[in-house]
Amino acid sequence: MTGRQTRPRSAQHLRTVPADPIQRPGTPEQAWQAWAGLRGLPAVDPLACLPARRDRRPRVLVVAAHPDDEVLGFGGTLAVLAASGVRLRLVSVTAGEASHPHSRASVAHNLAAVRIRELREALARLGAADVQSVALGVPDGRVTQSEQELSGRLAGLLGDCDLCVAPYSHDLHPDHEAAGRAALAAGATRGVAVWEYPVWAWHWAVPDDGRLPWHRAARLPLPFAAQDRKRAALACFRSQIEPLGDRPGDAAILPPAELAHFRRDFEVIWR
Ligand SMILES: [Zn+2]
Repeated sequence: MTGRQTRPRSAQHLRTVPADPIQRPGTPEQAWQAWAGLRGLPAVDPLACLPARRDRRPRVLVVAAHPDDEVLGFGGTLAVLAASGVRLRLVSVTAGEASHPHSRASVAHNLAAVRIRELREALARLGAADVQSVALGVPDGRVTQSEQELSGRLAGLLGDCDLCVAPYSHDLHPDHEAAGRAALAAGATRGVAVWEYPVWAWHWAVPDDGRLPWHRAARLPLPFAAQDRKRAALACFRSQIEPLGDRPGDAAILPPAELAHFRRDFEVIWR
């Protein structure tokens, strides 16, 4: 998902309380699980939200700011849609090359290629190897600067789609927010509904957090097969879930405590 890593996430750095909520220690998954409100969100069947057409299969455009956002926030549902014959078009806005700006490890020099490869592997494990993938090549960390152009590109890609799924436009990560806003604007232009999936919000928000729009949240339950596929897919993002080396700038972006938010038996979207 690419951290905001303005500074390395070193133990020394964590002694002070950073202003950036993403840099602060996050909400443990146990706290989310203990909140009845999360499981009490209305359950939605994604397939029932797509038009039943005789002339063609439904089409869904899924937007990610970084290669792994879509799997973290929506991967289980991607597996469900793929298994049901829904045609999927996946947009990687950036290649996620800036996830470890302070790393000197050799893999950090090749992160764009590594992360795109990891995503391909993850999609295969989701049963979605034949999705149409579109890489826009916007520089990682600079999506805000390209937001207007991005919105135009997404509107073009959305032309024949029935639904758009994008990062939450208030996720507190600038790339996620810009990608989310661009998708909302494109959806409005095309008259296509946009679902937003949170990623970093599970880290910085707390149960029943008044900053999140719970009134328009929905829970997407995942069948066992989709849960298994998602877990297998998440394991593909080795550059994010394992340290790149042993220096502070090499730290994993998604250590087990972060990953726990994405191993639930359901996903949540705002609609
Ligand atoms: Zn991301």
